[in-house]
Amino acid sequence: MVGTVPIEIKVPLGTTEVYVSWPCLLPGSHRLHYRRPPASNKMNRLDDIIGDPRIVVRRPGEPKTTGKCVVYWMQRSQRAFDNPALDVAMTAANLLGKPIVVFLAPVPFYPRANLRHYAFLMQGIPDIAEGLRRRSIGFVLRRYPEHNLLQFCEEVDACLLIGDENPMLEPERWRQAVTKKVQVPFWSVDGDVIVPSRLLEKAQFAARTIRPRIHSYLPQFLKKQANPRAKVPWKPPKALRQLDPECDITEGWDIDRSVLPVKGFHGGAIEAMRLLRRFIRSKLKDYPIHRNHPELDGTSKLSPYLHFGHIGPHTIALAVQRSHAPEKAKAAFLEELIVRRELAVNFVRFNPEYESFASGPQWAHRSLAEHARDRRPILYSRAQLEKAETHDPLWNAAQKQMTLTGWMHNYMRMYWAKKILEWSPSAARAYETALYLNDKYELDGRDPNGYEGIAWAIVGKSDRAWFERPIFGKLRYMSFASISRKFDSQSYISQIERLSH
Ligand code: FAD
Repeated sequence: MVGTVPIEIKVPLGTTEVYVSWPCLLPGSHRLHYRRPPASNKMNRLDDIIGDPRIVVRRPGEPKTTGKCVVYWMQRSQRAFDNPALDVAMTAANLLGKPIVVFLAPVPFYPRANLRHYAFLMQGIPDIAEGLRRRSIGFVLRRYPEHNLLQFCEEVDACLLIGDENPMLEPERWRQAVTKKVQVPFWSVDGDVIVPSRLLEKAQFAARTIRPRIHSYLPQFLKKQANPRAKVPWKPPKALRQLDPECDITEGWDIDRSVLPVKGFHGGAIEAMRLLRRFIRSKLKDYPIHRNHPELDGTSKLSPYLHFGHIGPHTIALAVQRSHAPEKAKAAFLEELIVRRELAVNFVRFNPEYESFASGPQWAHRSLAEHARDRRPILYSRAQLEKAETHDPLWNAAQKQMTLTGWMHNYMRMYWAKKILEWSPSAARAYETALYLNDKYELDGRDPNGYEGIAWAIVGKSDRAWFERPIFGKLRYMSFASISRKFDSQSYISQIERLSH
């Protein structure tokens, strides 16, 4: 085997050989090549599947041969197509000669989720049900208090459980609880990033450090999903309880209903694909310039769909690559979709304090501490900010875009968070306020991108030191005057004003 070093690693179903190319021993290269072991029987071929770096084997062992189906516990990747976790479940099910059933069971206690978020999630469920039906995959929708996954696995007699990876702490706690109790093997699949996040090994300092690593992995991982069909169609056991995909899953739940659903975004895979096509057809070519113009509708607006897993990054990236847009436009968009988004995933995965002010770099903490006692001529309470009652019409417009439409333009998000820092009694308080508002009103809130974005604006994460100034210390500053020179802020303000009437 010229140029490769065979390494033996023990994996739960036996032994898989992993061949590491020579270049990975050289500085600057980070590529591992997984070579398939010879597949002699079913177990070996399952062994082969778990060699995939997207898969985390949480409970090892051989699938229960007498079990009746493979269960896919759908959480983060709420879609029936281009879903790597579903493909893993399907490949395993086809190998084992079993059908596959998808279990989706929303609960009312997901931190900071409110009616706006649940409404969007619900809108996506009929698309999941229809897509799975077309692939001969079972689908069982339940809801709190009938959300118990372990009980479901017993009811359908699961032989293997597959779930989604997610870098956020709460779903990780759920997965760990399941791992302790589940009676069959349990694997989770990192399907909502292009490059499996564990391959990036540690917290990456900034886009410039993660970019070369991500780019070196793209040929290996930016590939079309196979979307295999089920060889054995699912036939539900008699009397298996399940809800209609069109039902109101929130009925009777004690959730925050003060944040209303929005009209401008409709959840679901079909709508996500429509927006993707529209973006590629009419906006992508101008993306490098228009993406910095909040007064223009120049971005994809796919972030809520990515957050809920109604569309995956592979689908978007491959469609953009295949398009006839100028290469510069494709590169600018893929930088945001892949490098920036996966930098945020890396931040959340390797920094357990991602929801806290403490997550920032030392230089920023030192500098903010030196300016903690600076006079703050303008201070607003959280309630004033929430109601968009500041002296700054541009900031108020941004806040209203978020509360009224469930989405804010990226350029405005930067300004919005910087001003919260300027108008709060402390940087720590500003951090909490920005997180609170972002997670409450944005449809794409409660997402690694939000934690990274707020940490960037308020505590210098992934940024460098700038000129020192009051309150901000060495953190990057943004002013109304400076950003108003870069786009037509008056047009943006007027558009948002029209929304309010
Ligand atoms: P497009 O420009 O069309 O980009 C396509 C995709 O690339 C986006 O959907 C998103 O997944 C990714 N992307 C784009 N810009 C960024 C970026 N700067 N960082 C990371 N990924 C990016 N994004 C969220 O998804 N949820 C949030 O809660 C969130 N909060 C933010 C808060 C602050 C203070 C800041 C500065 C940024 C925040 N972002 C957040 C990142 C970014 O603003 C949004 O992802 C983007 O505006 C979504 O619009 P779009 O889908 O039209 O993006």
